[in-house]
Amino acid sequence: MAYIDVKNEFKKYQMGDTEIVANNNISFQVDEGSLAVILGPSGAGKSTVLNILGGMDSPTSGKILVDGTDIAQFNDHQLTQYRRDDVGFIFQFYNLIPNLSTKENVELATSIVKDGLDPVNVLNEVGLSARLDNFPSQLSGGEQQRVAIARALAKNPKLLLCDEPTGALDYTTGKQVLQLLSDASRTFHKTVIIITHNSEIAKIADRIIHINDAKVRSVIDNAKPTPVS
Ligand code: ADP
Ligand code: ADP
Repeated sequence: MAYIDVKNEFKKYQMGDTEIVANNNISFQVDEGSLAVILGPSGAGKSTVLNILGGMDSPTSGKILVDGTDIAQFNDHQLTQYRRDDVGFIFQFYNLIPNLSTKENVELATSIVKDGLDPVNVLNEVGLSARLDNFPSQLSGGEQQRVAIARALAKNPKLLLCDEPTGALDYTTGKQVLQLLSDASRTFHKTVIIITHNSEIAKIADRIIHINDAKVRSVIDNAKPTPVS
């Protein structure tokens, strides 16, 4: 069953006299527990889609069904709850809090949700048991991204939204991060959506959604997602 079902979504911005159509009749589905990559060049409209899926922005029109509920109809209070309880976010530049330790960064996230997981257990799962008391500045880029993934997973959401998660990492470290995201979908049955301009990353996806010039150009199912190795 589709966990995400975007139907005829438009997002328009008014810039003076000019109308910018950032998303032009976007439709796609992502199955529960699968990994999708939204692939396209800079300016294609990917971040706009991700912001709308994450409840950070509302579409101009269209339906955004998440587990059957149209979040485009949510009021601000419902959107705040949705962002907090139902979505884990992973960003290119990690967005950790610099004066909190690894453990505290994850604890902060779990302290505000109902069904959070044990921070130390999740940090063990991402291989950071030796880094619990380090601050972000003491960690490598790959380690910081693993803290961010632990933070997202520890909230125990069904959906993980990832914005260029390997964009600031070298190739080998990036592969490790992709492996964790792939594990999150396959082992923990999370629905994972990654936006990227890098077609190499699309190889790990169950479904590749190409966006260019504000439109979906193709949706391709990948029968054999290449394991990250
Ligand atoms: P991508 O993530 O693929 O690089 P974006 O979704 O960020 O693309 O942007 C798609 C288009 O929408 C671009 O032309 C961008 O300039 C425009 N856009 C994005 N956000 C805004 C905004 N807040 N105001 C005006 N135009 C915007
Ligand atoms: P990268 O190759 O990803 O840039 P670094 O060279 O920054 O990695 O770090 C290599 C290792 O040293 C990492 O495991 C990191 O956690 C550790 N490290 C770096 N700086 C510090 C520090 N100030 N205190 C403790 N450990 C550190």
